[in-house]
Amino acid sequence: EDAEEAALATMLAAYRGVWVFVEQTEGEPAKVSWELMGVGAQLAKSLGVELCAMVIGENVEHLCHEAFAYGATKAYLLDQKVFHFYRTEPYLDACCYLIAKYKPEIILMGATGMGRDLAGAVATRVKTGLTADCTGLDVDDKRNLRQTRPAFGGNIMATIMCDKFRPQMATVRPHVMQMPEKTGDATGEIIQERFEIDEASILTKVLEIIKDKKAGVDIAGAEFIVSGGRGMMAPENFTMLQELADELGGVVGASRSAVDAGWMPHDRQVGQTGKTVRPKIYIACGISGAIQHLVGMQDSDVVIAINRDKEAPIFQVATYGIVGDLFQIVPALTQCIREL
Ligand code: FAD
Repeated sequence: EDAEEAALATMLAAYRGVWVFVEQTEGEPAKVSWELMGVGAQLAKSLGVELCAMVIGENVEHLCHEAFAYGATKAYLLDQKVFHFYRTEPYLDACCYLIAKYKPEIILMGATGMGRDLAGAVATRVKTGLTADCTGLDVDDKRNLRQTRPAFGGNIMATIMCDKFRPQMATVRPHVMQMPEKTGDATGEIIQERFEIDEASILTKVLEIIKDKKAGVDIAGAEFIVSGGRGMMAPENFTMLQELADELGGVVGASRSAVDAGWMPHDRQVGQTGKTVRPKIYIACGISGAIQHLVGMQDSDVVIAINRDKEAPIFQVATYGIVGDLFQIVPALTQCIREL
């Protein structure tokens, strides 16, 4: 048993450093990667190790410099044609190659389409754990990553540890972590690698990229959101919310009840099974404030809740609460703003 423990301690000690996977499409970084740099820097500081960026793509060296501006001191770069488009197989092979060679103790990825795909594949290949959709990350005194995330439909917060395997892997949704400040003059070390991989051996080929034409509204990036719930009563009543959102230069969001009722499309849903948002102002109209909704919006700078039930849980996270009938309050609010 002692020998087993000693072997485990040796394995754990071999892994050092906090890595953030810098997600990019055609050289354009996903903002979540920089949000992860913020929390990654705190973890690296607690552990006394370096914060590193993992940059994979073609013509992506500029992202290493951007990563330095967000706090990384080192970047592992794989800059090859084969990585131009994201595909699971080559990215998986590349990540595993870097992990085997440099042994990071923590790897963070965005809980995006790409991040979810890659993180799961990597964790399986390197036989380690992965906690998806974390809302909190810190380390304990044994250098273990404490990964907090909602569980059982958001009714409890679970803290998950991966104390016998390395690297420790976590994904975090966009907008959950605060964006760090960017520094202008930051520098770091780029470790450029080359990974031998034969294009012909890759089973997936990207033939064409077709952009989704109707992808118009981005609620995740909006600064002002006016959201409606079951209290809106009917789809046509959302016009009222759109008018208020237009006055503010914002967008309309919805609770799951409103989406399930078919009043709004799913891409407007805020919450655990929808988007996580962090606008300057979030106005919740006829939304009760179920925990699954709150996890998606409670970090907004200002929350204004309009609900006729003064006991509604939404008021617990509201900066300003208006108890009353939304059908009177929303048009009055829109009118006031118009007159400003
Ligand atoms: P209700 O809870 O029915 O609330 C309607 C509110 O409107 C009430 O508070 C009422 O007082 C108020 N109201 C009614 N009429 C008026 C009026 N005239 N003026 C003012 N106020 C009025 N929900 C999400 O939103 N997002 C998610 O991502 C999500 N994911 C989920 C995942 C799981 C696994 C589960 C189990 C649930 C999830 N839910 C999610 C559902 C969630 O539990 C709630 O059922 C849902 O959020 C309730 O929506 P609501 O607040 O619009 O409706």
